[in-house]
Amino acid sequence: MGQRLGQREVLLPEVQGLMHTRILYLAHDHLNPTHGVFSSANPATDVVVLVESARMVTGRPWHKERLFFLLASARHFAAGLQDAGFTVRYLQAATTIDGLAAARNEFGDLPIYCAEPSSFRQFRLLQDFGVEFVENDLFLTTRKLFALWAESQKTFVMENFYRAQRNRLGILVANGQPEGGRWNYDADNRLPPPKNYTWPAILEHQRDELDLQVATQLNHTATTTWATTRQGALAQLDYFIEHHLAGFGPYEDAVAADNWAMHHSLLSPYLNNGLLHASELVAAATKAYELGKAPIESVEAFVRQVIGWREYINGMYWFLGEDYRERNGLNATRKLLPLFTDSSKTKMNCVGSVVANMEKRAWVHHIPRLMILSNLALVTGTNPQEFLDWMREQFIDATEWVMVPNVIGMAVHADGGTLMTKPYAAGGAYISRMTQYCKGCAYDPKLRAGSNACPFTTLYWDFLDRHSETFVKNHRMSQQVNGLKRLSDLPELRERAQEVLAGLEAGTI
Ligand code: SF4
Repeated sequence: MGQRLGQREVLLPEVQGLMHTRILYLAHDHLNPTHGVFSSANPATDVVVLVESARMVTGRPWHKERLFFLLASARHFAAGLQDAGFTVRYLQAATTIDGLAAARNEFGDLPIYCAEPSSFRQFRLLQDFGVEFVENDLFLTTRKLFALWAESQKTFVMENFYRAQRNRLGILVANGQPEGGRWNYDADNRLPPPKNYTWPAILEHQRDELDLQVATQLNHTATTTWATTRQGALAQLDYFIEHHLAGFGPYEDAVAADNWAMHHSLLSPYLNNGLLHASELVAAATKAYELGKAPIESVEAFVRQVIGWREYINGMYWFLGEDYRERNGLNATRKLLPLFTDSSKTKMNCVGSVVANMEKRAWVHHIPRLMILSNLALVTGTNPQEFLDWMREQFIDATEWVMVPNVIGMAVHADGGTLMTKPYAAGGAYISRMTQYCKGCAYDPKLRAGSNACPFTTLYWDFLDRHSETFVKNHRMSQQVNGLKRLSDLPELRERAQEVLAGLEAGTI
């Protein structure tokens, strides 16, 4: 049975005497006033129900900053709906279904509608309860449209999908040609972190009474990094366009040791919980380009993330089906290393620094995610599902549709190459070039054997060695695998790899 929250004092009185005909169920990642189930909402006839389930709050070891963000955003959104004249119930219940049953107890056996949910599990649970789905237009590509594209492809190359999106949506194209003459400015956007560079300040979001109520409930001291209202999310978008977009492209793949955000937008949490819509980000970025405020290489790089990667990952999640989550093509069985849950359990400066950043604010940008955290999981042979669960629980912008293809397909190559043609494995040389961590590290990125060898360098070669039979057949990997033959110290390297793996498990490397 659901329980009403004691928040009446912050909400306006409900309009009396209404005849309700529908219940609109609003998931915590559908907080958009004009899309999803709100595309046809009517305060005169619709009751809006949000459910804060115990499973959602305590069912897994969620990062508290993540939980704080999701709950505070939903409660602000609910308060705003009530201000707008809707009858709203923000229910706390054991499960979402219990909450919806409580809503039916109060309002009668009304039909329940919601936007298509963001995971197979939730989809099934709601469907079994008789909930009716509205097409999820929080994305620019419907699930049906994406499936049409995917079914027409021999391989699922994101770049092909992205170019089709540019043409279909008419973004940065004129007469079928890309703005600036190229579809992709990646080659211009691989600069290492700059020296003596002043990064713009980060926008802080002050906490209000409702935020503090949530923080107290969670026994959490929230940062001021993440907005919990649509107004705050829009302010973050304006701030990014004004202060960061122009510099975003060239340094998007670099990792600075002295600035955790660099020129990244910090907008993914709001896209993924609904407070912002993809179309708003694209409109703001392309307008900045038209006004001459940002160069094409930055605007194109940003647009690609929003209309390319994000839509592709969501589309692939639904296209590949529920079983895809369980793939383990490289038979990786190692348990999650202790350093993932405690940054003090490693001497690797890159990994320790990135996990410490995660501990603070539940976010690091795509390169630490892919080339440090995921790379480590890949080359250590960590079980994909254990790593996936950790990513899902820790990142502020994580949802099932985001993390399943990103981790299983891209991060740890557990799908045997369905999504990516090669694994994203790298040694210390890459990390040394693209980050500023190696100078302060106990290890040497150039060494692959011996007690000072960089664990990434050792494990990169060991990974190729362990999987040489699989990857020698891959035309994008065969050159690297054949490189193993030139290693005169392969026996020492193998021995060091065993020491490194044991040390990582013991928290001493
Ligand atoms: Fe990371 Fe290796 Fe560089 Fe140390 S030397 S920071 S472990 S890449």
